[in-house]
Amino acid sequence: MSGLEEFKDELETCFGTSCGFCEKGCPVYQSMKVKTLCMKGRNRTMLGLIQGKFEITPAVVQAAFECTLCGNCDRWCSLKNTEHTRAFREYLLKHGVEPIKEHASIATSIRNYGNPWFQPRSARNRWSKGLNIPKAAPGQQEVLFFAGCTSAVTKNLNRSLAASAKLLQKAGVKFGTMGQDEPCCGSTLQRVGQTEAFEELEKENIKKFKALGIKKIVTACPGCYTTLKKSVEKAGAGIEVTHIAQEIAQQVKDGNLKLKKSSERVTYHDPCHLGRLGGVFEEPRVIVSAVANLVEMPNNRYESRCCGAGAGLQSAFPKLSHDLAAKRVAEAKATGATTIVTCCPFCETQLRTVPGVKVADLLEFLLDASELNDRNNSQKGRAN
Ligand code: SF4
Ligand code: SF4
Repeated sequence: MSGLEEFKDELETCFGTSCGFCEKGCPVYQSMKVKTLCMKGRNRTMLGLIQGKFEITPAVVQAAFECTLCGNCDRWCSLKNTEHTRAFREYLLKHGVEPIKEHASIATSIRNYGNPWFQPRSARNRWSKGLNIPKAAPGQQEVLFFAGCTSAVTKNLNRSLAASAKLLQKAGVKFGTMGQDEPCCGSTLQRVGQTEAFEELEKENIKKFKALGIKKIVTACPGCYTTLKKSVEKAGAGIEVTHIAQEIAQQVKDGNLKLKKSSERVTYHDPCHLGRLGGVFEEPRVIVSAVANLVEMPNNRYESRCCGAGAGLQSAFPKLSHDLAAKRVAEAKATGATTIVTCCPFCETQLRTVPGVKVADLLEFLLDASELNDRNNSQKGRAN
C-alpha cells in the first residue's frame, strides 16, 4: 500500500469526526468559503476517490491544487493533512491528470537549468560576486552555505543572500558555496505532486553533498530548509541542516555582532516552511528584537497566516494567491508596523505585491542596522 491509500484510515477518521476545526485557520477556505477547499472537504473527496465512489473531475483537481500546503490544518488536527494533500496530487498525476500548465515545466527547467525558473546556471552565483567565498571542494569545507534557486536567480533577491553571507563572515564562520553547481532542492516538484522526479533529484543531491564531505548545510530559504532536512535524514547522511536565522540569532545572543536598537515598529511574518513546518519561531524574533521594536500580528507563530505564495498556488491561482497576501498585509498594517520583516524569498516577493507597507528580508534588515552602526561608530571615532 502506498500513496493516497496509505492514509485511508486517517481519511475515514476525518469522515467519522467531521469536527471542522480545520476550517478556522485555513486561509483558502476563509477566502473562498467553499467546503471542498478546506481539509474536511478535501479528505472526503480523497476517501470517495479511493473507495471508487467519485470520479476525477475538474472540481476534484481543483480541490487538490487550490491549497498552499501551509500546514495550518495540521495545527488543529492530529491527522497528517498536508501529507494527504501532497499524496492526493501525486495520485491524480499517476491516474492520468495532466499537470497544471504552470507546474508542468518545473521538472524540465530543473533538468536543463538546475532551477525551476528557466534561468541560466550562470545566474546562480551572481549574488556572491566580490564576496570572496570559496567554492566547496572535497574535504575542504565542513559548512556549506546553500543559497536556494529563487533568491539566487532573482536579481532583486540577491541582496538578501549577500547579507546572509556577509553576516556569517562578520561572525567568523568559515563556509563555502557550490557556486553555479548548487542544485535545486526539489521542494517545488515535491509540493506539486511530481514525486518520482523529486526522489531522483534528492538522491543525486545527497551524493553531491557526501562527495564534498559536508557536515553542515546552512540555507537561506525555508523551502530548502525543510526539504533538505528531510532528505538528509531519510538518507542517514549525517549532515546537519540549519536556516541562516538560527545561525545568526546565536551570533546575536553571543554578542558577536555590534548592534543598536531603533524604535521602529516592525512585525515579523513567519514563513510557513520555517515556522509551522520547520519549527523555527524564536530565532528570527531574537534578530528583529535586537534592532527594532517587534510588534506581533494576532496570527503569529503556529497560527501565522500563509502569504499565499506556496505549493504552486501563486502560479496556478494568482487571484486567490493575491487575496491571501492582501489579507496578511492588512493584518500587519493593523499592528501599526512600518515594516514587515520575513525570511523567505517567496513570502518577500508575495507580500511586496500589496502596496502600503515596506517588506524587508530579515538578514538584510539586520545587516543594514549593523552597517549603519558601523558607519555611526566610525564617524564618532573620526569626530573624537
Ligand atoms: S481534517 Fe481534522 S480538523 Fe478537519 S474535519 Fe477532519 S478531523 Fe476535523
Ligand atoms: S494546508 Fe493550509 S491552505 Fe491547505 S487546507 Fe491546510 S490550512 Fe488550508
